[in-house]
Amino acid sequence: MNSIITIRASSLGTLFDCPARWAATHIDGLRMPSNGKATLGKAVHASTAVFDQSTIDGAGITIDESAAAAVDAITHPDDEVVWGEDSPVDAEKIAISLHAKYCQQIAPKQQYTAVEVTCEKLEIADLGIALSGSTDRIRRVAEGQAICDLKTGKTAVGSDGTVKTAGHAFQMGVYELLAQHSAGVPITGPAQIIGMNTAKTPASQRIGTGEIVGARDVLLGDGESPGVLEHASRLIHSGSFFGNPKSMMCHQAYCPIHSTCKFRK
Ligand code: SF4
Repeated sequence: MNSIITIRASSLGTLFDCPARWAATHIDGLRMPSNGKATLGKAVHASTAVFDQSTIDGAGITIDESAAAAVDAITHPDDEVVWGEDSPVDAEKIAISLHAKYCQQIAPKQQYTAVEVTCEKLEIADLGIALSGSTDRIRRVAEGQAICDLKTGKTAVGSDGTVKTAGHAFQMGVYELLAQHSAGVPITGPAQIIGMNTAKTPASQRIGTGEIVGARDVLLGDGESPGVLEHASRLIHSGSFFGNPKSMMCHQAYCPIHSTCKFRK
């Protein structure tokens, strides 16, 4: 293996969904403007992080005070945002409502030990890759310490209140490795996903949690079949970045090479 290529934990899903889109973004550095959904997600991440950090520090920042971080993320975004069919006014209302639900229903049950942990790169030299990313939360659980990830989306929580965890194990597994590497604490409890539905009406803005036990297991091979990281390494180092025009994200709003991609023809 002659070069180390960095994979952001949050991009692993894209790598397997459409390798050509992943390469355009993460190898060629092409960027899309942000969109309303991503900005709403960032807003809720920002405000809940302020609230949870204040709880850890004993700073006493209230739910209403910390909601200001959500409003700020929407009114002063870091990146250009193409709102499309979404609107900043709606996004602000949804973000404030979800923020309050999270602070009232989820946060009091959690024992967080760290918030928004930016992790050092974790190099896996024999696979020629390095993992990077930030972990939303580390929390104390009966088994020890565990990671926790906040996910917003239209279908993050089902109508029966369950959070979809299928398909998230490898991303959670990478966060576990990164948290162990950076925070220096063994991660021994199940990964938790906190799902928040970004529907317009408060009644449909469901919020809930789901757990994944053994998230790291899928990353590593079992001697007979390779793990996800080995698949990722082979794909990246082969340079065979094929496209998947059936991807849900195969759209001009999400793919930087949509207008020129030969796989769409
Ligand atoms: S246009 Fe579609 S198939 Fe081509 S890279 Fe983008 S997402 Fe993949």
